[in-house]
Amino acid sequence: MDVLIVGASAAGLSTAEALRRLGHDGRLTLLDAEPHLPYDRPPLSKQVLAGAWEPERARLRGQAQLDALEAEFVRGERAVSLDVAGRAVTTASGRVLRADAVVLATGLTPCRLPGQGGLAGVHVLRGLDHALTLRAHLTAGTRLVVVGEGVLGGEIAATARGLGLEVTLAGLGPAVLGDQLGPFVSGLLTRTHAGRGVRLRLGVAVEGLEGEGGRVTGVRLATGETLPADVVVVAVGSRPATGWLDGSGLALGDGVECDSRCRAAEGVYAVGDVASFHHEELGRRLRLENRTNATEQAQTVAANVLGADRPYTPIPYFWTDQYDVKIQAHGLPSPAAEVTVTEGDPEQHRFAALYREGGQVTAVLGWNMPKQARLLRQQVLVQPLTTA
Ligand SMILES: Cc1cc2nc3c(=O)[nH]c(=O)nc-3n(C[C@H](O)[C@H](O)[C@H](O)COP(=O)(O)OP(=O)(O)OC[C@H]3O[C@@H](n4cnc5c(N)ncnc54)[C@H](O)[C@@H]3O)c2cc1C
Repeated sequence: MDVLIVGASAAGLSTAEALRRLGHDGRLTLLDAEPHLPYDRPPLSKQVLAGAWEPERARLRGQAQLDALEAEFVRGERAVSLDVAGRAVTTASGRVLRADAVVLATGLTPCRLPGQGGLAGVHVLRGLDHALTLRAHLTAGTRLVVVGEGVLGGEIAATARGLGLEVTLAGLGPAVLGDQLGPFVSGLLTRTHAGRGVRLRLGVAVEGLEGEGGRVTGVRLATGETLPADVVVVAVGSRPATGWLDGSGLALGDGVECDSRCRAAEGVYAVGDVASFHHEELGRRLRLENRTNATEQAQTVAANVLGADRPYTPIPYFWTDQYDVKIQAHGLPSPAAEVTVTEGDPEQHRFAALYREGGQVTAVLGWNMPKQARLLRQQVLVQPLTTA
């Protein structure tokens, strides 16, 4: 059997490794639009952006480990279409790659603001080249505006403050990570940013960018205020990289729609950030944008490609590092949940908390308390909420 994996990053590479581990000895091809050897993305907004790590340190595997896979890596070639019935992928250069099974692992594309493309000094952060370009512009004293109060916006603001920039964080939500972690934890995180000297303009829409001579000079808010900026990072979310699959006949909603086996069609699977799968225990569709999911889902996808019939039913997990705060969340925290601190003390910047909805523990969160959060994870139920 020949397997073709489109996207050779965290999820695609883990799928290839799992296939070999499970005994797949047929042809294995990994296609990626990136020219670089596979690298990890979490350090891009942290150690790489801070300049603490050389880019090579973010590599997912060394050359020897990649060689041991006995796979063909096709790098720097973009997939432009998929023939589902024939399991054939055409690349931008016109090359056609055929296989018995195709795994889609193309991740996300960052969203941009209208007019962003025409202005110098405006950045997004998804890939290594983005991180290195942005890094070159982050010098002490520079005025940086980060648009987007989500996890990426928070991390970039924290890293930039560490480098001595003047940082303003602007976003529609009332608090950093408020959409994901709810008022209690996001309130603490927002106060942490303020305490570190980040100017906050939250709960207000960004109307547009202002520029002069082709270079950004500011970010205009719906209130009429303009935030002066030498550099702007737009971190307003990402969408699944499925544009190349338009017309393939696959169901593309919020990502590549799969069944509980991560199968999008006969012989076609999706894995990682791009995959919207049916979580059997939750009874609904889920798409996870986190690093742990990329590796975990790959194990299930590889097994199913090789003939297993395994549902994917993870307890989601993500972490974020901002300043000296490490937040880890197991389960599905929601702003609607009731949050109870069970260990430690938020005032001391170390605590673990349970998220409850309808009397059910839906998530556990650790704030500089990784071990306690891991232990409490056993209480998390990922299943439909019971109505009390
Ligand atoms: C800056 C940053 C920081 C992060 N920090 C954290 C964190 O702290 N904690 C956490 O849990 N998660 C974090 N994440 C999320 C985590 O990195 C992702 O969940 C993970 O990378 C998903 O892996 P993936 O392989 O599904 O997608 P990706 O890593 O996005 O890989 C997709 C690959 O597909 C390729 N591709 C796309 N389209 C095509 C095409 N048409 N043809 C060929 N190739 C294509 C791309 O070049 C890319 O290499 C972070 C992400 C970013 C960007």
